[in-house]
Amino acid sequence: MNTKNIEARNGRAAMVISLDFELYWGMRHLPSVNSYVRNLIGARIAIPAILELFREYGIHATWATVGFLFFERTSQLLKIAPTRRPLYKNTKLDPYSDLPPESEHETSDSIFFAPSLIRMIAKTTNQEIATHSFSHYYSFEDGADIESFRADLHSAQRAARLSNFEVTSLVFPKNQERRDFLEVCAEAGILAKRGQLLRLADSRYWTPSKNSSKPIFTALFIAPGLFGTASSCAHQKRPDSCGKKGTALSPVVASAQLWLRLSSEL
Ligand SMILES: [Zn+2]
Repeated sequence: MNTKNIEARNGRAAMVISLDFELYWGMRHLPSVNSYVRNLIGARIAIPAILELFREYGIHATWATVGFLFFERTSQLLKIAPTRRPLYKNTKLDPYSDLPPESEHETSDSIFFAPSLIRMIAKTTNQEIATHSFSHYYSFEDGADIESFRADLHSAQRAARLSNFEVTSLVFPKNQERRDFLEVCAEAGILAKRGQLLRLADSRYWTPSKNSSKPIFTALFIAPGLFGTASSCAHQKRPDSCGKKGTALSPVVASAQLWLRLSSEL
């Protein structure tokens, strides 16, 4: 996709499908997680069915995948894990203290690891493997900071590369998008993100009100100068033209309706 194409499509309806692929790592912070395990296991049935529907109807989608899921077991994960980690004030949020024993590995009912599902998604036409951070990073929590976010994102990209993917899209966990983190994204070569629209120009980041825990809008971040490669690379494994480092220029925020996966007519 290039800017010209986007301008041509501006004003036309478009739907974006981005899915958080996280299993246990996106639910473990909830008190109800134990009663939700069956649903997490059920993802192993649901995902192939969803992919079949996407294939049948030619639907493009982005799967924002938690980095932990790329591994077969804990020891592999720890080799790639950052040494600089967020020191959450709420220690229950720390996923590193909740890693499964080494005997745990991906099986037909695993909720911790999912490399086979990632491969299945990637093999399906028009599906993009993106990142949902390495550790399901909580950007708004006390203890989150830019250096640990940078390290987390670096590990997320390393995990993906080990499986031969170059991730260039990011979904902030819980859509907790911080303005100061966007420069880190650009440096890391992230071309597009899903988060909450940055509404306050002079805020470091937007703090959600009690009534708006859900995003009211999905915005797009594009590293300037890299826009033209964003979608042309989005569905390919290790595209040579993608992986270039973003120049740490100011990010651009555009409204969600400008963002769409290419359809056959473009
Ligand atoms: Zn999540």
